[in-house]
Amino acid sequence: SEMRHERVKRTKTVCTYCAVGCSFEVWTRDRHILKIEPTHGPANGISTCVKGKFAWGHVNAEDRLVHPLLRDGDHFREITWDEALDVIEKKFKQVMRDHGPDALAFISSSKTSNEESYLMQKLARAVIGTNNVDNCARYCQNPATMGLQRTVGYGGDSGSISDIETAGLVFIVGANPAENHPVLATRIKRSHKFRGQRLIVADIRKHEMAERADIFFRPNPSTDSVWMNGVAKYILDHKLHKPEFITKWVNHFDEFAKSLEPYTLEYTEKITGVPQATLITVANEVAAADGVCILFAMGVTQHCGGSDTATALSNLLLLTGNYMRPGAGAYPLRGHNNVQGASDFGSMPNVYSGYQKVEDEAVRAKFEAGWGVTLPTSTGKDNHQMIDAILDGSLKAMYIKGEDTVTSDSNAGYVAKALAQLEFFVVQDINFSETCRYADLVLPAATSLEKDGTFTSTERRIQRIYKALEPLGESKPDWEIIQLIANRMGGNWKYTHPSEIMAEAASLTPLIAGVSYERLEGFNSLQWPVHADGTDTPLLFTDKFNFPDGKARFFPVTWIEPSEEISSTYDLHLNNGRLLEHFEQGSMTRRTAGIHEITPNSFVEVSPELAEERGITSGRHVQLASPYGRVRVQVLVSDRVQGKQLYMSLNSVDQPVNNLTSSHTDRQTHTPAFKETAVSMTVLPEQ
Ligand code: SF4
Repeated sequence: SEMRHERVKRTKTVCTYCAVGCSFEVWTRDRHILKIEPTHGPANGISTCVKGKFAWGHVNAEDRLVHPLLRDGDHFREITWDEALDVIEKKFKQVMRDHGPDALAFISSSKTSNEESYLMQKLARAVIGTNNVDNCARYCQNPATMGLQRTVGYGGDSGSISDIETAGLVFIVGANPAENHPVLATRIKRSHKFRGQRLIVADIRKHEMAERADIFFRPNPSTDSVWMNGVAKYILDHKLHKPEFITKWVNHFDEFAKSLEPYTLEYTEKITGVPQATLITVANEVAAADGVCILFAMGVTQHCGGSDTATALSNLLLLTGNYMRPGAGAYPLRGHNNVQGASDFGSMPNVYSGYQKVEDEAVRAKFEAGWGVTLPTSTGKDNHQMIDAILDGSLKAMYIKGEDTVTSDSNAGYVAKALAQLEFFVVQDINFSETCRYADLVLPAATSLEKDGTFTSTERRIQRIYKALEPLGESKPDWEIIQLIANRMGGNWKYTHPSEIMAEAASLTPLIAGVSYERLEGFNSLQWPVHADGTDTPLLFTDKFNFPDGKARFFPVTWIEPSEEISSTYDLHLNNGRLLEHFEQGSMTRRTAGIHEITPNSFVEVSPELAEERGITSGRHVQLASPYGRVRVQVLVSDRVQGKQLYMSLNSVDQPVNNLTSSHTDRQTHTPAFKETAVSMTVLPEQ
């Protein structure tokens, strides 16, 4: 009826799942979410995937957190916000008095807004006085950022998503975009099918994009930097590189050329298992293509050599002149909706917003003046170091927002043991996560549909989200909660809207100097760097790389063997990743019933060869065990995996893959080596 129609509200927002950054209008009537309608999304046009279109059940889920909860023995009781803030004030002050500010630590969320990550670092640094602040990019994307910062100076996608369609060759390494970045994958499928774009996939698992690829090869696990160097050496030896580009734009060529000497075709084949003929074909394709985009994700980063592999792929792009033009460059495919922004806005232990170093005195002086405080001088602890610091007794209190650390971090048993030892632990989330079970105090946060703010997508695109619904119950937007805590601790903050937080961040951060809510109004968006006059940067490098002399740098890397060796006891390699229908551990997507039912059980993919050897078929239960723990899962026999490779979805709460992963990390960034896991598989009796 007319009346009903009038009550329908249409609100522009951005998807809360992956970092493709699809934007659309959400239609609501009262608290009902009626539909998602893509209209003018810059990244997605009129498309969305199943998650963006349907997976909003978490917003009105019956088990949303709607009151602060205080631990009372082994259960929790509802308390008021005032009581919750009293507890925080008392405990934080007590820990600060007894142990100093570095006994506290703060973890922001890659799901919350830019403004909220900015405030989280400000709370830690300006109010508490510690640089112990991080976000979950530590679990995934930091090695990608490191590899690009070393070579080209900025850790971000080289161009826009739409540019990928113009590349002569798309090269996907250790990423599964058809399931994890579906709308982006659709664009590649289209340009591959209809515009003659070449597609190469390097992965240990034959996922959908691998099936479509012109060339698909399976390197041995954790050897990607070796074939990248091998391919680079072949290109150099056959003079297929771009000397004019290198002379003009890249430093340290001689060092790099020398570092490639060991990577003969024979050595490369021996380590990687990739046949020499394939290496030669790949080298020729990369050298000849009219623009190469390398898309990569966790298959590259989550190894002890993750940063080095990201570096090696950037070296290869520099060698072949594949930067500084549309349809070329490196595309780290960011996972969460705002994993790019959580780091951009300073929730990291070594940098303020815009990657300005805390140890740089001039930078620190600027933030001290801007915030009116004296700031701590040395780098803080990252997520990984925080866990160790709890166990060595130096870290006593922690505040985590929007992060299910127990299931997301590697070696879940070790992490849980640490969190249980905290003197005081606050967790803020939209529902009661596994991590909440270890909390002393749980704070109810608003969902993305219940607040204003901005997210930054994988293509460095800053986009507005607008409030479609009031926060459910007594939940509050994260920025409001952080401000309440800051003010209890003497912060004297007076933000009335996220636009004011953005204005402050922009005034202190050259990377986003020209960002304002006025400029982002409606479906407008800005890709960083955004200059003071409001011009943005769809193509990241046009007339210089981000170093003082404007030149990029070759950065030689050496390969190290994977941390968890296949042995006679742990004789299989376990890989892991997401499923199309779910996000991370499924705490949000599993709250939409129709989506939960598609893949209700945890499963492990087993190759037909291995299934035959062990005498098992699909549906059989097995126990996987590593030195760190075990899980019980159902078998799915699949030729996506080969030989002694297993693959398990990480979208599982009941049998988390991180019971099996180790505490080994990337050497440079401490990102866990999730993809270096050796396990045994025991077939369980039939039920
Ligand atoms: Fe959301 Fe990513 Fe799907 Fe787009 S592709 S609708 S951003 S999950």
